[in-house]
Amino acid sequence: MSIEKTFSIIKPNSTLDNNIGNIIAVFEKNGLRVSAAKFAKLSKEKAEGFYIEHKERPFFGELVNFMTSGPVLLMVLEGENAVAKNRELMGATNPANAAEGTIRKLYAKSVGENSVHGSDSHAAAEREIAYFFERNEVVNRF
Ligand code: GDP
Repeated sequence: MSIEKTFSIIKPNSTLDNNIGNIIAVFEKNGLRVSAAKFAKLSKEKAEGFYIEHKERPFFGELVNFMTSGPVLLMVLEGENAVAKNRELMGATNPANAAEGTIRKLYAKSVGENSVHGSDSHAAAEREIAYFFERNEVVNRF
């Protein structure tokens, strides 16, 4: 058994569609605990830096515009095999290909407005948590 941390974002389509609670319920029912969270509106610079690996992709501008278009909920999720578990609960990038019951199948609007981000590896999780959270903000219990 391996308790891990991963990084999650509830994207603007889902904060604005009132699906924050529904999405967190999927995490909590499946063994992932929210161990840190911040509600924020990302600056263009912060969003571009986060998605820098996609800079040359044709959808980069659209992605940054979307991620800065409304509030996001930035979260650290903690649980057994949290990185893989979160990816499984999210479903495929394009909701048209996402399995039944996954967050993207339930709540995403399109391949761009797809409700959630989740780290795709342990290294990405560490890097992404550090990008948005100070070490002492990531608490397990008081
Ligand atoms: P993820 O790991 O499943 O989030 O997918 P990727 O790392 O491949 O892509 C990052 C994000 O870019 C996705 O979650 C989408 O929000 C966005 N994205 C990916 N492909 C497309 C596309 O074809 N069009 C648009 N507008 N956005 C895309």
